[in-house]
Amino acid sequence: MSIFPSVISGATPLRIAVVGAGFSGAAVVVHLLRLLPAGSCVHLLERGGRFGRGLAYGTCSPSHWLNVPAGGLALDPARPDAFVQWLQQRFPAFGAGDFVPRMLLGEYFADELAAAEAEARVRGVELRRHVAEVRAIEHDGRVFHVTATGLPPLAAERVVLATGHLPPRRVALPGADWDEPGFVADPYAPGWQAALPDGAAVLVLGTGLSAIDVLMALQDRGHAGPVTLLSRRGLLPQAHRWLDAKPQPASVPQPDWQHETRLRPLLRTLRRTIADAAAQGCDWRDVMARMRPQTPALWQRLSARDRRQFLRHLQPWWDSHRHRLAPGIHARLTALAAAGRVELAAGRLQQLQRGADGRIGVRWQRRGGGMRQAAFDAVVNCTGASAALAGSADPLLASLCARGWLQADPLGLGLLVDEQFGMPGVPGLYYIGPMLKAQRWEAIAVPELRQHAKALAQVLAAGALAPA
Ligand SMILES: Cc1cc2nc3c(=O)[nH]c(=O)nc-3n(C[C@H](O)[C@H](O)[C@H](O)COP(=O)(O)OP(=O)(O)OC[C@H]3O[C@@H](n4cnc5c(N)ncnc54)[C@H](O)[C@@H]3O)c2cc1C
Repeated sequence: MSIFPSVISGATPLRIAVVGAGFSGAAVVVHLLRLLPAGSCVHLLERGGRFGRGLAYGTCSPSHWLNVPAGGLALDPARPDAFVQWLQQRFPAFGAGDFVPRMLLGEYFADELAAAEAEARVRGVELRRHVAEVRAIEHDGRVFHVTATGLPPLAAERVVLATGHLPPRRVALPGADWDEPGFVADPYAPGWQAALPDGAAVLVLGTGLSAIDVLMALQDRGHAGPVTLLSRRGLLPQAHRWLDAKPQPASVPQPDWQHETRLRPLLRTLRRTIADAAAQGCDWRDVMARMRPQTPALWQRLSARDRRQFLRHLQPWWDSHRHRLAPGIHARLTALAAAGRVELAAGRLQQLQRGADGRIGVRWQRRGGGMRQAAFDAVVNCTGASAALAGSADPLLASLCARGWLQADPLGLGLLVDEQFGMPGVPGLYYIGPMLKAQRWEAIAVPELRQHAKALAQVLAAGALAPA
């Protein structure tokens, strides 16, 4: 007997196409396979060829760690221990409080997908996996037609875009261009690290999590050259606690910000709460954790002006406190800095110029004053994955924007969806993934996305109840 009973037996079968099989796409599909009635078919289309991993969990570097302890990362919020159980079957020493390499989470998501697929097959629900890039989506007034490389068009009553992160924004380089040799516009593109000359001096633009990813991957390769991390403020991600200091968000004061609608009072309340928590011997990280479920509502109450102010002045501080480093990676970073293997710089790029020796001369205005100049063999763009839909070079997203099916948010944080993750004015077309940040701010990590994925699958499956 099935351990996942269909909740809508007797309903009309559906064909659903899901574009992108990173975490978001895979999570929606796992739930759909459990919810859809017999005869339904889910097409899962992934251009990268690996299902359930995506940008974050497709990494092959053992030094790319999760920035959340394993206990908070199961695919299904209803089975919160599932990832830890999966881990312990393979590595009995791991517990819920451990930070582990991201690739393990990707392997677990892929296993969850395969298990749901096998279970669904028994019930007559089919998952068809396609290694293909979706280039166009049309609607003939009855069904969608999804056109992907190397496939005949696929018909589907519903389409879910789970296309994930866009490549980082190409920050302006005064005097140079990202397409020149030695410039790496996308740090997660394959191959560039292997092509570095021995002892190459590397300038990383950005000091957040993707900069640390690059630094760790370089160290794993035995990179012996100097690495400089440069950002306007030079703020590194804060460290998580080692888990012998247990998080206790429930023990910190609960701020009264239910009626706060302006940025300044909100910030004052947050500061005061952190100070009160510290006075009681609590940790600021617990205040952030307590705030997390309320962040989307707080964000939605802010005016466009306040959101803009936040992005301009506060986001670097927010990011460095909210998106923290696993303690082991933080300790490694500290040791590299102490050994002079990595330099942290705060400043603003002024000029880049190719020298006669082919190296890239870079001059920047230091934050504390004065100029600094140095020569590098490579400059890497680690300003973070983008969600700026408007002007995206992605052919599918660009064509959907041009047709008016996708609406970019004016702040460049993602796209606008209705309360059921649908595209306003385009019935049957949905989105799940980090571009939900536009309306929720706190929406890009697994703990939030898995809730959204489950909710979206329920919305989609409810469509099977509609009369044929
Ligand atoms: C480097 C990094 C580390 C992170 N670490 C953590 C962490 O430790 N803990 C945490 O909670 N969160 C973390 N996150 C955040 C979070 O887990 C991710 O945002 C989440 O995995 C997003 O998944 P996604 O499927 O929406 O997007 P992606 O992972 O970007 O997947 C989208 C997929 O869609 C495919 N695709 C795109 N367009 C097409 C197309 N036209 N046709 C076919 N396929 C297409 C892509 O190939 C890709 O596989 C991290 C994010 C990043 C970027």
